[in-house]
Amino acid sequence: IDESVAEDMARFEESFVGIGKRYRLINRIGEGTFSTVYKAEDLEYNNYDNRWDVDERERRKWSSPSGRKRGSRRPHYVAIKKIYVTSSPIRIFNELELLRDLKNGDSVCPLITAFRHQDQVVAILPYYHHHDFRDYYRDMTISEMRLYMKSLFTALRAVHQNKILHRDVKPTNFLYNPQHSRGVLVDFGLAEREGTDWHKCVCTESLEERRYQVAHSVYMQNQQAGHQTTSYPKNDTRNSRRANRAGTRGFRAPEVLLKCTQQNTSIDMWSAGVILLTLLTRRFPFFHSADDIDALLEITTIFGRKKMRETAFLHGQVFETNVPSYSEHGHTLEKIILWCTGRTSSDKGAPKKELSDEEKEAVAFLYRLLECDSAKRITADEALHHPFITKSYE
Ligand code: ADP
Ligand code: MG
Repeated sequence: IDESVAEDMARFEESFVGIGKRYRLINRIGEGTFSTVYKAEDLEYNNYDNRWDVDERERRKWSSPSGRKRGSRRPHYVAIKKIYVTSSPIRIFNELELLRDLKNGDSVCPLITAFRHQDQVVAILPYYHHHDFRDYYRDMTISEMRLYMKSLFTALRAVHQNKILHRDVKPTNFLYNPQHSRGVLVDFGLAEREGTDWHKCVCTESLEERRYQVAHSVYMQNQQAGHQTTSYPKNDTRNSRRANRAGTRGFRAPEVLLKCTQQNTSIDMWSAGVILLTLLTRRFPFFHSADDIDALLEITTIFGRKKMRETAFLHGQVFETNVPSYSEHGHTLEKIILWCTGRTSSDKGAPKKELSDEEKEAVAFLYRLLECDSAKRITADEALHHPFITKSYE
């Protein structure tokens, strides 16, 4: 491994007193905005009293003098998630608590235990062998996409049944193993219970800043198109709207971008839709927006202005754009997939290229996920019963 990684691991072992006694650090496997994740071997796993996958009854049986056997010598791996000390204690507590609530689902990464040393908190999770999304998204067959999505919905159904919103569904938070067609959902750092509103105090972006963003983005596009721009009032006295906008750009549902204050579990289904769109178009990342307004405009490119006006209206917002390149009705997802996969031909006489029947079924399902009206969007449970997901090819 990299010298800097080795140094980082040594520093961690030194600062987190005692961690090295129980775990042998092997590698650094993740480095995100909120944490660093290491792969490690649990050195005490073979000691039955410390095993996390054995329930209390069995433990008692095994710890009776006659029943105790020597454990196998096979190494057991864990993922140690070192949560950055800059995260607020409420956030850390929230993540650990939600993980604990979800510990019985088999498609959600359970929490084994957690430790604190001074201001540093680490979560110990089972290690999941998985593949990097970038290695397989380009060549998945429709059947493979079906299995991927099925596994993702199984996880989301478990989360949503617990009335929890994950809020950050995206490929790096879904550890998938294509060989076993199984994945686990990780990273509950932004998750929250349905109906909580403590997050409202977290978002501080002002309306003025937002107006600036709109004006800026429209201005930029108009410049490119050679149009005159209208400006926005400098001193807007209306109250700004605050809502949780957590999540990753490009995976945020329209209602999140529109700052709807009553968000529910359907926001995760939109993100799942963006993943399926990525798989079908073989473009990752599919959306490249620099900010929320850009993200809204990217969605407008697909769904058209009419749909966005209607969606904004649902959340008491007004959507307006004077950029002529956004069409009133947008484009069909079929067309977008054909474009992205180079199946459109410019020759007039050439035969029209079409999606395969399987792809068409996938697109019909995709429309149910990328439904702008969150109340009409398919739920995880419904998705698992949808013909596209239940269909099997023998
Ligand atoms: P962050 O909040 O920093 O995004 P995550 O929980 O998403 O933290 O973990 C970051 C990365 O670490 C993941 O994308 C994944 O590659 C790796 N990772 C996290 N948990 C596990 C695990 N249990 N097993 C294997 N790899 C993991
Ligand atoms: Mg993550």
